[in-house]
Amino acid sequence: MICPKCQKEFEIQNNKYRCQCGICLPVEFYGYRLTQQNIDKLVQQGSTDEIEFYSKAKKKKFKARLRFSNGKIEFDFVEGKTSGAIKKDDRTVFVFLNALSSGLIRIFIIDGDNKEEKIYDFGRAATRYAEALALLAVLPTIPHEKKIRIVADNMQFVKYVLGEETPRDREIRFGINILARELQNYDWQVELSLKKLKLKGGNAKRISLNLFPYIKVNQIQQQNGILVIIENCNLAVEKHFLEFIQKAKKLSFGRFLVADESQEKLNEWTNKVCEISSQ
Ligand SMILES: [Zn+2]
Repeated sequence: MICPKCQKEFEIQNNKYRCQCGICLPVEFYGYRLTQQNIDKLVQQGSTDEIEFYSKAKKKKFKARLRFSNGKIEFDFVEGKTSGAIKKDDRTVFVFLNALSSGLIRIFIIDGDNKEEKIYDFGRAATRYAEALALLAVLPTIPHEKKIRIVADNMQFVKYVLGEETPRDREIRFGINILARELQNYDWQVELSLKKLKLKGGNAKRISLNLFPYIKVNQIQQQNGILVIIENCNLAVEKHFLEFIQKAKKLSFGRFLVADESQEKLNEWTNKVCEISSQ
């Protein structure tokens, strides 16, 4: 391999091409061996064409360009052409994720001819955490035999999901780990697209119904308040519940204690997120 700047042969040390001019590039990067053409483009134009890599950590192929940034080599995820080219196929479910504002996530699901928009309000949750939660919220509605194509509008989130970057924030890291575990049940891929899908009739922010159709909420009146037991609870349900009913106390996973004065709030939440099962 030749240094494009100096036209001299690179030296190879520790899986790196090195040149006296300071250029240092990996010989192999995520299962891919750089070609002379890649190196030329990277050095002369700042980025390569799209390359297919392999992440051992996630056992997953992914596509990205490589680019130079502050002398370091990094991935440049190719902006998906997805929105223009959604192919209908019975097996694939498209899940588009858009952060509307901190804690407020719009999720748009396309499954064959069915299209559904849901807006999840996770209150004070950090945006990247809220995105993980919104995905966790819809996964139970997608059968395991489906393929999932996640299209997110945030590169950092894409890197987190691919395991190429680890969130420093403890809560986000926790959410991403739980999400990664749930995604193992599926054949999935994730990509970046900065385009936002427009919806017919405009985007109705705020109220979406049936956010967690798979849960069942049981209320048991007790002396010290209302014991709420949520069947099929998950991390997203829990966070949403605690943000909506701020005075609720978590007893254990899926079990909460709500003060009598919050009865209305509790009913409002239940009506919104699932079909009521009254006792
Ligand atoms: Zn050189």
